[in-house]
Amino acid sequence: MKAEIKCRFCGSENISKWGRRKTQNRGLIQTYKCNDCSKRFTQDDGFLKMKNSPQKITLCLDLFFNGVSTRKIQSHLKQFYPHNSSWVSVYNWVVKYSKMIGKYADTLKVSTSKQIQVDEMEFKTKGKTSWFIDIIDPETRFMVSSGFFEGRGKEEIREVLLNAKSKDKEISYITTDGFMVYRNVIKKTFSSYSKKAIHKVVNASQGEGFNQRIERMHNSIRERTKTFRGFGSLNGAKAIMKGYEIYYNFIRKHQGINKTPIEMVSDIRLKDNKWLELIELSSSQK
Ligand SMILES: [Zn+2]
Repeated sequence: MKAEIKCRFCGSENISKWGRRKTQNRGLIQTYKCNDCSKRFTQDDGFLKMKNSPQKITLCLDLFFNGVSTRKIQSHLKQFYPHNSSWVSVYNWVVKYSKMIGKYADTLKVSTSKQIQVDEMEFKTKGKTSWFIDIIDPETRFMVSSGFFEGRGKEEIREVLLNAKSKDKEISYITTDGFMVYRNVIKKTFSSYSKKAIHKVVNASQGEGFNQRIERMHNSIRERTKTFRGFGSLNGAKAIMKGYEIYYNFIRKHQGINKTPIEMVSDIRLKDNKWLELIELSSSQK
C-alpha cells in the first residue's frame, strides 16, 4: 500500500520533487515543494523529528510487546547501539506508536464470524483497580475491540461495543457473563438493527463458561502485562493496552491457525517488519 503525497501544510497534491536531504537517522530523504503554498517539506512516514532510527524504535516496540521490560530493553540498547536510549524513551515510543497505530486500526472494516464474546479482566496496580474490557471473535481469534478503564460501567462498556459495531456492522450474536450492566447496554447499542442481535448470558455457577480460547487468551494477556508494571498514568496504561491489542491482532502469529488474526478477518497482509509497516500505514492515513 502506497500513500499519495500531499503538502503537509495545505494538503495540495500539486507538488514537485525538490532534491534530497541527508538526515542523521533516516538516511537520504526526498524533499518536496508545494506549488500552491510554496512551502518545502518532507513526507511524514511516522518518524518525522524522531532522533532515533525507525529500525531501532520498532525493534524496541517488538521487544516490549514480547514481554521484555523497558529496563531490560535499556540494557540491551546499551550493548548494541552506541547512543544509548533510556527506558523512558522506550516507554514514550511505546505510548506514542500504540496510540498512532490504534487510531488507524480502529478505522478498519473487518469481517468477523458475527458472534462475539465480551469479557472483562481486572487489573490491580498500586492498590487501584482498573478494567480491561475486550471483545473477541472466538472463531477467528480477532480482538474486535478493547478498552482500558478505571471502571466498568455503562459508558465504558458501550464505548467498547460501539467500536466493535463500527468495524463489523453485521455482528449479531453477543455472549457475556451475568454482569447486569450488559443487558441494557447491548440492547441499546444494537437496537437499530433490522435483525435484532441475540444476547446470550453464560452462567459460570451453572457450569457454563466462556470458550476456553478466551480463557487462554486472558491468561496470556495477564502473563504479558506483568512486565507492564510501569504502567504510569492512566493515559499511558490505555495506550499500552491498545498496543497489546495491536500486537495480538497484527503481529503475533496464532499457533492454532498459523496466521495473525487480522489475516482471518481482512485482506491485510503485513511483511517482515510489521511494526514499521503499521506505522507507515497509520501516518499515511492522517
Ligand atoms: Zn502547500
